Amino acid sequence: MRINLRGLVLALTVCSALAATANALYASYRVQREQLIANTLEANRVYAAKLAESAGTFLDSALQQLGYSARHVAGRFDAPELLATEVARLQEQTDSFNTVAIIRADGLMLAASKGIRNFEGSKVDNAGSRMALQTRKPLISKPYVSVAGNLLINVSYPIHSDSGVYLGYVSGTIYLRNEGALHNLLGKHPYQDGSYLYVVDSDGRLIYHADNERVGEDVTANPVVAAVIRGQDGAQRLINTHGVDMLAGYAHVPRSGWGVIAQRPAAATLEPLYDLVWALIRYAAPFALAFLLAIWWCARKISQPLSQLATNVEHQDMAVAMQRVRSVRAWYFEAQRLKRAVIRSYTNLQDQIGKLNHASITDPLTGLRNRRGINDAVDSLQASDTPFAVIALDIDHFKRVNDTLGHTAGDAVIQAVAQLMRDCSRPSDILGRSGGEEFLILLPGVGIREAASMAERLRKKMETRRLGGALGITVSAGVAQWRSRGQDVETVFQDADAALYAAKQMGRNRVVTHAA
Ligand code: GH3
Ligand code: MG
Ligand code: MG
Repeated sequence: MRINLRGLVLALTVCSALAATANALYASYRVQREQLIANTLEANRVYAAKLAESAGTFLDSALQQLGYSARHVAGRFDAPELLATEVARLQEQTDSFNTVAIIRADGLMLAASKGIRNFEGSKVDNAGSRMALQTRKPLISKPYVSVAGNLLINVSYPIHSDSGVYLGYVSGTIYLRNEGALHNLLGKHPYQDGSYLYVVDSDGRLIYHADNERVGEDVTANPVVAAVIRGQDGAQRLINTHGVDMLAGYAHVPRSGWGVIAQRPAAATLEPLYDLVWALIRYAAPFALAFLLAIWWCARKISQPLSQLATNVEHQDMAVAMQRVRSVRAWYFEAQRLKRAVIRSYTNLQDQIGKLNHASITDPLTGLRNRRGINDAVDSLQASDTPFAVIALDIDHFKRVNDTLGHTAGDAVIQAVAQLMRDCSRPSDILGRSGGEEFLILLPGVGIREAASMAERLRKKMETRRLGGALGITVSAGVAQWRSRGQDVETVFQDADAALYAAKQMGRNRVVTHAA
């Protein structure tokens, strides 16, 4: 079975509507998605930059505090109470440092704050102290594990005498895993919608992370970490060291060489987008359904005239078929064309049939009925039980006409006799040429006498016409009658022929009536 027009229109429209909707949905999804990603990247970049600035300010302030103390104790390096007081003040006045100590140029710890006081008087030897003693400059150390077992960074400031001699340094530590200044600074910022923060030192090791356990871990494999410790700021989408798709903003802290990275999983960012797409689909669904119904209705309207035309044309009776075709409402151009074409070809066909019909019962020479035409007329007269008279007519000595005047003139005589028959008959009379120069006239509802007088009128007219000049063409006729159904119609024609034969026998140019 083939797909119908309604199905085609429906399928076509539904397909194109679906394609358009899917396209719009996808485009909207892409735009929203890119917007979300760009927004998140920018928010994280700004966040990282702000915190990098805060961290820089914090480190500047820490160095500033130590610098002030360094200058304060420079002239009185021999007064242990002053050093002790200064160390205590530094630790307690602000919460910048977890511990504070003053170290002599040879590495001996002259004064120490709470917590590390038991190291007072002993020599300090760790990564921070070695670096400070070596460089003799304000310094922020790399993270290292102290003697007390704490992961920390050491901020130190050199002490020089008034004459410029290096005396040692004052240092403050900031613990990385414990509560401390850095935690206060970074941890205070709440996680924003799944975003989190971490800080790496200039070697790419974590010095702050939301997950405290990871502090100290080397994360240089992360492309953002690699960029930020090269001194770059920016934002980037990346796969982190744990294989998670991340949207990261990052900023460099010039003071210490650190990098601050704020990032958010891409999945967390894009999650609302899926809800949005679903919401779009849900809102669109009722309209889509209404649209579908409307299309179905339209498809029906479009296919209706065509299917009606097809169904009606198939009707057995052509007249009924055409009547129905005419009643089909062809409301659009092509259907109207088709309807007109069907009706036109039907009409042409009817015409052709009519012409063929007429030709098949007509004698071409005279335009009178031929044998078949006469038989048809007899059949219908019999069927309606209409009594009729028969005149059998024959041209006398027609052979002579042909022989003397020629065949063409003979034809003209036959045509003239036909015309004469028309002139002498009424519209209801049935005129035929039964063959050669023989004719038959049926007179429905006419009695035998009246028929005989009509034949006589014809004969006389023929005689007075003097057709064929010297030949003087005349006709002979035999008259008979069919009265009712009970009578065999064949014998009536034989009777008329017999009467005609009798007329010929009696000398031609006369009418003989068959005696019933
Ligand atoms: P009768 O008085 O006994 O009827 O003599 P007839 O010569 O008319 O009779 P017959 O039937 O012997 O001859 C008829 C002739 O009519 C024979 C034929 O040549 C001629 N004829 C028949 N049909 C046509 C026709 O269509 N045209 C012409 N020109 N002649 C025809
Ligand atoms: Mg004859
Ligand atoms: Mg004849």
